[in-house]
Amino acid sequence: MSHILEDTQFIMKKYKIKANKALGQNFLINQNVVDAIVDSSNISKQDLVIEIGPGLGTLTKELLEKAGKVICIELDKKMINILTDRFSLYDNFEVIHGDVLQIRLNKIIKEEKELRGFQSAKIVANLPYYITTPIIMKLLEERLDLETITVMIQKEVADRLIAIPGDKETGAITYSVYYYATTEGVLEVSRDSFIPEPEVTSKVIKLTLRKEPPVEVKSKGVMFKIIKSAFMQRRKTLLNALTNTKVFMSKEEGIQILKELHLDENVRAEKLTLENFAEITNKILVDE
Ligand code: SAM
Repeated sequence: MSHILEDTQFIMKKYKIKANKALGQNFLINQNVVDAIVDSSNISKQDLVIEIGPGLGTLTKELLEKAGKVICIELDKKMINILTDRFSLYDNFEVIHGDVLQIRLNKIIKEEKELRGFQSAKIVANLPYYITTPIIMKLLEERLDLETITVMIQKEVADRLIAIPGDKETGAITYSVYYYATTEGVLEVSRDSFIPEPEVTSKVIKLTLRKEPPVEVKSKGVMFKIIKSAFMQRRKTLLNALTNTKVFMSKEEGIQILKELHLDENVRAEKLTLENFAEITNKILVDE
Protein backbone atom coordinates (compact mmCIF):
# COMPACT_ATOMS: atom_id res chain seq x y z
CA MET A 1 0.00 0.00 0.00
CA SER A 2 1.40 3.37 -0.99
CA HIS A 3 1.55 6.32 1.40
CA ILE A 4 2.57 8.89 -1.13
CA LEU A 5 -0.03 11.48 -0.14
CA GLU A 6 0.63 11.12 3.62
CA ASP A 7 4.42 11.18 3.04
CA THR A 8 4.16 14.34 0.93
CA GLN A 9 1.96 16.10 3.47
CA PHE A 10 4.26 15.00 6.30
CA ILE A 11 7.39 16.37 4.58
CA MET A 12 5.65 19.64 3.68
CA LYS A 13 4.53 20.09 7.28
CA LYS A 14 7.87 19.11 8.79
CA TYR A 15 9.81 21.59 6.63
CA LYS A 16 7.03 24.20 6.54
CA ILE A 17 6.81 24.06 2.77
CA LYS A 18 4.19 25.96 0.78
CA ALA A 19 4.33 25.11 -2.91
CA ASN A 20 5.96 27.97 -4.81
CA LYS A 21 3.78 28.69 -7.82
CA ALA A 22 6.39 30.83 -9.52
CA LEU A 23 8.74 27.83 -9.55
CA GLY A 24 6.06 25.54 -11.01
CA GLN A 25 5.83 23.43 -7.88
CA ASN A 26 3.11 20.80 -8.20
CA PHE A 27 4.06 17.73 -6.22
CA LEU A 28 3.10 14.26 -7.38
CA ILE A 29 0.81 12.31 -5.05
CA ASN A 30 -0.23 9.44 -7.33
CA GLN A 31 1.90 6.31 -6.97
CA ASN A 32 0.61 4.85 -10.27
CA VAL A 33 1.96 7.87 -12.10
CA VAL A 34 5.32 7.65 -10.32
CA ASP A 35 5.49 3.96 -11.29
CA ALA A 36 4.53 4.70 -14.90
CA ILE A 37 7.25 7.36 -15.22
CA VAL A 38 9.92 5.13 -13.68
CA ASP A 39 8.88 2.01 -15.63
CA SER A 40 8.74 3.77 -18.97
CA SER A 41 12.21 5.24 -18.36
CA ASN A 42 13.58 1.70 -18.43
CA ILE A 43 16.37 2.38 -15.97
CA SER A 44 19.09 -0.02 -14.89
CA LYS A 45 22.16 0.11 -12.67
CA GLN A 46 24.23 0.84 -15.81
CA ASP A 47 22.46 4.19 -16.18
CA LEU A 48 23.17 7.67 -15.00
CA VAL A 49 19.85 9.43 -14.38
CA ILE A 50 19.55 13.20 -14.30
CA GLU A 51 16.38 14.36 -12.60
CA ILE A 52 15.34 17.96 -13.22
CA GLY A 53 13.29 19.57 -10.44
CA PRO A 54 13.19 16.74 -7.87
CA GLY A 55 11.19 18.88 -5.42
CA LEU A 56 10.48 16.86 -2.26
CA GLY A 57 12.06 13.75 -3.79
CA THR A 58 9.01 11.62 -4.60
CA LEU A 59 10.34 10.41 -7.95
CA THR A 60 13.94 10.53 -6.74
CA LYS A 61 13.28 7.85 -4.13
CA GLU A 62 12.22 5.34 -6.80
CA LEU A 63 14.93 6.38 -9.23
CA LEU A 64 17.65 5.79 -6.62
CA GLU A 65 16.58 2.15 -6.31
CA LYS A 66 16.88 1.52 -10.04
CA ALA A 67 19.72 3.71 -11.34
CA GLY A 68 23.48 3.50 -11.01
CA LYS A 69 23.44 7.13 -9.98
CA VAL A 70 20.88 9.93 -9.78
CA ILE A 71 22.00 13.53 -10.15
CA CYS A 72 19.23 15.97 -9.21
CA ILE A 73 19.15 19.58 -10.34
CA GLU A 74 16.93 21.82 -8.23
CA LEU A 75 16.58 25.59 -8.10
CA ASP A 76 14.79 25.93 -4.75
CA LYS A 77 17.20 25.99 -1.79
CA LYS A 78 14.49 24.68 0.56
CA MET A 79 14.20 21.53 -1.53
CA ILE A 80 17.97 21.05 -1.46
CA ASN A 81 17.86 20.80 2.35
CA ILE A 82 15.00 18.29 2.26
CA LEU A 83 16.66 16.14 -0.40
CA THR A 84 19.99 16.16 1.40
CA ASP A 85 18.33 15.04 4.65
CA ARG A 86 16.23 12.43 2.92
CA PHE A 87 18.84 10.76 0.77
CA SER A 88 22.12 11.28 2.60
CA LEU A 89 22.44 7.54 3.17
CA TYR A 90 22.33 6.73 -0.54
CA ASP A 91 25.79 6.57 -2.09
CA ASN A 92 24.34 6.99 -5.60
CA PHE A 93 22.66 10.34 -4.90
CA GLU A 94 23.91 13.81 -5.76
CA VAL A 95 22.09 17.11 -5.85
CA ILE A 96 23.11 20.29 -7.64
CA HIS A 97 21.60 23.59 -6.57
CA GLY A 98 20.97 25.68 -9.66
CA ASP A 99 18.90 26.58 -12.69
CA VAL A 100 18.90 23.69 -15.14
CA LEU A 101 19.03 26.15 -18.04
CA GLN A 102 22.40 27.41 -16.81
CA ILE A 103 24.02 24.09 -16.06
CA ARG A 104 26.57 22.45 -18.35
CA LEU A 105 24.93 19.06 -18.59
CA ASN A 106 27.33 17.82 -21.26
CA LYS A 107 30.27 18.19 -18.91
CA ILE A 108 28.47 16.34 -16.11
CA ILE A 109 27.45 13.45 -18.38
CA LYS A 110 30.93 13.15 -19.90
CA GLU A 111 32.66 13.13 -16.52
CA GLU A 112 30.27 10.63 -14.95
CA LYS A 113 30.51 8.28 -17.91
CA GLU A 114 34.30 8.41 -17.92
CA LEU A 115 34.63 8.10 -14.16
CA ARG A 116 32.06 5.40 -13.47
CA GLY A 117 31.63 3.75 -16.85
CA PHE A 118 27.87 4.27 -17.17
CA GLN A 119 26.49 2.87 -20.39
CA SER A 120 23.96 5.60 -20.90
CA ALA A 121 22.49 8.75 -19.46
CA LYS A 122 18.76 9.35 -19.17
CA ILE A 123 16.68 12.34 -18.16
CA VAL A 124 13.62 11.79 -15.99
CA ALA A 125 11.49 14.65 -14.67
CA ASN A 126 8.19 16.08 -13.67
CA LEU A 127 9.13 19.41 -15.21
CA PRO A 128 8.27 22.89 -13.94
CA TYR A 129 5.65 23.88 -16.51
CA TYR A 130 6.64 27.54 -16.80
CA ILE A 131 9.83 26.56 -18.64
CA THR A 132 8.94 23.25 -20.31
CA THR A 133 9.87 24.27 -23.82
CA PRO A 134 13.23 25.96 -23.07
CA ILE A 135 14.29 22.94 -21.03
CA ILE A 136 13.37 20.41 -23.70
CA MET A 137 14.99 22.49 -26.44
CA LYS A 138 18.16 22.81 -24.38
CA LEU A 139 18.28 19.05 -23.88
CA LEU A 140 17.89 18.47 -27.61
CA GLU A 141 19.86 21.32 -29.16
CA GLU A 142 22.95 20.88 -27.00
CA ARG A 143 23.32 17.40 -28.52
CA LEU A 144 23.78 15.89 -25.09
CA ASP A 145 25.02 12.34 -24.90
CA LEU A 146 21.61 11.09 -23.76
CA GLU A 147 19.63 7.99 -24.62
CA THR A 148 16.15 9.04 -23.52
CA ILE A 149 14.20 11.93 -22.02
CA THR A 150 11.08 10.92 -20.07
CA VAL A 151 9.17 13.93 -18.81
CA MET A 152 5.78 14.96 -17.55
CA ILE A 153 4.57 18.25 -19.03
CA GLN A 154 1.29 20.01 -19.90
CA LYS A 155 -0.82 17.77 -22.16
CA GLU A 156 -1.34 20.49 -24.75
CA VAL A 157 2.39 21.05 -25.15
CA ALA A 158 3.05 17.30 -25.03
CA ASP A 159 0.69 16.67 -27.93
CA ARG A 160 2.40 19.32 -30.01
CA LEU A 161 5.87 17.96 -29.24
CA ILE A 162 5.05 14.38 -30.15
CA ALA A 163 2.85 15.05 -33.19
CA ILE A 164 4.15 13.77 -36.51
CA PRO A 165 5.17 16.66 -38.82
CA GLY A 166 2.48 17.08 -41.44
CA ASP A 167 -0.30 16.33 -38.91
CA LYS A 168 -2.82 18.87 -37.66
CA GLU A 169 -1.47 19.48 -34.17
CA THR A 170 1.96 20.64 -35.23
CA GLY A 171 3.88 23.81 -34.54
CA ALA A 172 7.43 24.82 -35.43
CA ILE A 173 8.64 22.95 -32.35
CA THR A 174 7.19 19.66 -33.61
CA TYR A 175 9.77 19.69 -36.40
CA SER A 176 12.65 20.40 -34.02
CA VAL A 177 11.72 17.55 -31.71
CA TYR A 178 11.22 15.20 -34.67
CA TYR A 179 14.65 16.14 -36.03
CA TYR A 180 16.38 15.10 -32.81
CA ALA A 181 14.22 12.30 -31.45
CA THR A 182 11.54 9.69 -31.93
CA THR A 183 8.65 10.21 -29.56
CA GLU A 184 5.89 8.41 -27.72
CA GLY A 185 3.05 9.38 -25.40
CA VAL A 186 3.13 7.32 -22.20
CA LEU A 187 0.23 8.41 -20.02
CA GLU A 188 -2.27 11.23 -19.51
CA VAL A 189 -2.35 12.47 -15.93
CA SER A 190 -5.29 14.27 -14.35
CA ARG A 191 -4.92 17.37 -12.18
CA ASP A 192 -5.82 15.53 -8.97
CA SER A 193 -2.54 13.58 -9.13
CA PHE A 194 -0.74 16.63 -7.69
CA ILE A 195 -0.79 19.00 -4.75
CA PRO A 196 -1.49 21.75 -5.40
CA GLU A 197 -3.50 20.87 -8.53
CA PRO A 198 -2.12 22.47 -11.70
CA GLU A 199 -4.54 24.32 -13.96
CA VAL A 200 -4.10 21.87 -16.83
CA THR A 201 -4.08 18.15 -17.57
CA SER A 202 -0.60 16.65 -17.84
CA LYS A 203 1.03 13.98 -19.96
CA VAL A 204 4.12 11.83 -19.67
CA ILE A 205 6.10 11.61 -22.90
CA LYS A 206 9.26 9.79 -23.82
CA LEU A 207 11.81 11.00 -26.37
CA THR A 208 14.48 8.63 -27.69
CA LEU A 209 17.36 10.52 -29.22
CA ARG A 210 18.17 9.68 -32.82
CA LYS A 211 21.69 8.56 -33.68
CA GLU A 212 21.35 10.05 -37.18
CA PRO A 213 19.13 12.95 -38.28
CA PRO A 214 16.09 11.88 -40.32
CA VAL A 215 16.80 14.30 -43.21
CA GLU A 216 19.83 15.56 -45.07
CA VAL A 217 19.93 19.33 -45.14
CA LYS A 218 22.64 21.78 -46.13
CA SER A 219 22.05 23.97 -43.10
CA LYS A 220 20.01 22.86 -40.12
CA GLY A 221 20.01 26.45 -38.83
CA VAL A 222 18.56 27.85 -42.06
CA MET A 223 15.96 25.07 -42.17
CA PHE A 224 14.72 25.86 -38.67
CA LYS A 225 14.59 29.59 -39.50
CA ILE A 226 12.42 28.77 -42.51
CA ILE A 227 10.15 26.57 -40.38
CA LYS A 228 9.82 29.40 -37.85
CA SER A 229 8.93 31.89 -40.58
CA ALA A 230 6.35 29.49 -42.01
CA PHE A 231 4.64 28.96 -38.66
CA MET A 232 4.79 32.60 -37.55
CA GLN A 233 2.19 33.28 -40.23
CA ARG A 234 0.46 29.93 -40.15
CA ARG A 235 -2.93 31.29 -41.23
CA LYS A 236 -1.38 32.40 -44.51
CA THR A 237 -0.42 30.05 -47.31
CA LEU A 238 3.16 28.83 -47.10
CA LEU A 239 3.88 30.73 -50.30
CA ASN A 240 2.75 34.05 -48.81
CA ALA A 241 4.38 33.42 -45.43
CA LEU A 242 7.75 32.62 -46.98
CA THR A 243 7.54 35.42 -49.55
CA ASN A 244 6.64 38.00 -46.86
CA THR A 245 9.59 36.94 -44.75
CA LYS A 246 11.96 37.00 -47.77
CA VAL A 247 12.73 33.30 -47.61
CA PHE A 248 11.56 33.25 -51.23
CA MET A 249 13.08 36.21 -53.10
CA SER A 250 9.84 36.59 -55.04
CA LYS A 251 6.47 34.93 -55.36
CA GLU A 252 7.57 33.51 -58.71
CA GLU A 253 10.58 31.84 -57.13
CA GLY A 254 8.30 30.39 -54.43
CA ILE A 255 5.81 29.05 -56.96
CA GLN A 256 8.65 27.44 -58.91
CA ILE A 257 10.13 25.76 -55.81
CA LEU A 258 6.76 24.46 -54.60
CA LYS A 259 6.11 23.10 -58.10
CA GLU A 260 9.44 21.26 -58.13
CA LEU A 261 8.51 19.69 -54.78
CA HIS A 262 5.04 18.69 -56.10
CA LEU A 263 3.40 20.88 -53.46
CA ASP A 264 0.21 22.82 -54.06
CA GLU A 265 0.58 26.61 -54.41
CA ASN A 266 -1.99 27.07 -51.63
CA VAL A 267 -0.47 24.61 -49.19
CA ARG A 268 -0.18 25.64 -45.51
CA ALA A 269 2.83 25.12 -43.28
CA GLU A 270 1.31 22.37 -41.12
CA LYS A 271 0.88 20.12 -44.16
CA LEU A 272 4.61 19.95 -44.81
CA THR A 273 6.85 17.13 -43.68
CA LEU A 274 10.33 17.76 -42.33
CA GLU A 275 11.62 16.30 -45.59
CA ASN A 276 9.70 19.04 -47.47
CA PHE A 277 11.32 21.78 -45.39
CA ALA A 278 14.74 20.20 -45.88
CA GLU A 279 14.16 20.21 -49.66
CA ILE A 280 13.06 23.86 -49.65
CA THR A 281 16.20 24.74 -47.66
CA ASN A 282 18.47 22.81 -50.02
CA LYS A 283 16.93 24.50 -53.07
CA ILE A 284 17.20 27.98 -51.59
CA LEU A 285 20.81 27.48 -50.63
CA VAL A 286 21.68 26.26 -54.15
CA ASP A 287 19.98 29.26 -55.67
CA GLU A 288 21.96 31.74 -53.57
N1 SAM B 1 9.65 16.14 -8.93
C1 SAM B 1 8.74 16.67 -7.95
C2 SAM B 1 7.45 15.90 -8.00
O1 SAM B 1 7.20 15.25 -9.02
O2 SAM B 1 6.71 15.94 -7.04
C3 SAM B 1 8.50 18.16 -8.18
C4 SAM B 1 8.08 18.58 -9.55
S1 SAM B 1 7.59 20.26 -9.69
C5 SAM B 1 6.44 20.14 -11.02
C6 SAM B 1 8.96 21.10 -10.49
C7 SAM B 1 10.23 21.27 -9.68
O3 SAM B 1 11.19 21.97 -10.48
C8 SAM B 1 10.09 22.08 -8.40
O4 SAM B 1 10.70 21.40 -7.34
C9 SAM B 1 10.82 23.40 -8.69
O5 SAM B 1 11.40 24.01 -7.54
C10 SAM B 1 11.88 22.94 -9.68
N2 SAM B 1 12.38 24.00 -10.58
C11 SAM B 1 11.73 25.09 -11.04
N3 SAM B 1 12.50 25.80 -11.87
C12 SAM B 1 13.68 25.14 -11.97
C13 SAM B 1 14.89 25.38 -12.69
N4 SAM B 1 15.02 26.45 -13.51
N5 SAM B 1 15.91 24.50 -12.54
C14 SAM B 1 15.79 23.42 -11.74
N6 SAM B 1 14.66 23.14 -11.04
C15 SAM B 1 13.62 23.98 -11.15
